[in-house]
Amino acid sequence: MNYDSNNIFARILRGEIPCNKAYEDEYALAFHDIAPQAPVHLLVIPKGEYLSFDDFSSKAPAEAIAGFYRAAQRVAELSGLQEGGYRILANTGADAHQEVMHYHLHIFAGCDLGPMVKKGLV
Ligand code: 5GP
Repeated sequence: MNYDSNNIFARILRGEIPCNKAYEDEYALAFHDIAPQAPVHLLVIPKGEYLSFDDFSSKAPAEAIAGFYRAAQRVAELSGLQEGGYRILANTGADAHQEVMHYHLHIFAGCDLGPMVKKGLV
């Protein structure tokens, strides 16, 4: 699959579509999910054009990878999530129902998040 530069997160990065920004630096942009699934639901996206965790982790330069994960940690810290804790999730591909094909981390927080995955999968 090729990267589609008109995906929704690419358009948010270019400023064509607004977002509720939580953090930005040279490596990453973080903003609130439009349909939150927890009291805090943030998305962290790299500034480069990568489809998924798989694509980013295998192809991005080491500096971009380090910068991105440092940024994600800053998002959690600046959002005050360290004390209560938080969950990071990266849907990757069809079985995980990845909808937007620009790599992103979800950060969930603000309540007891329950079991890690839906019960009954095995
Ligand atoms: P995925 O299923 O790809 O891991 O998650 C995509 C996420 O992007 C979903 O949680 C969805 O609510 C969110 N999303 C989709 N379109 C927009 C948008 O235009 N703005 C924001 N802030 N979030 C979006």
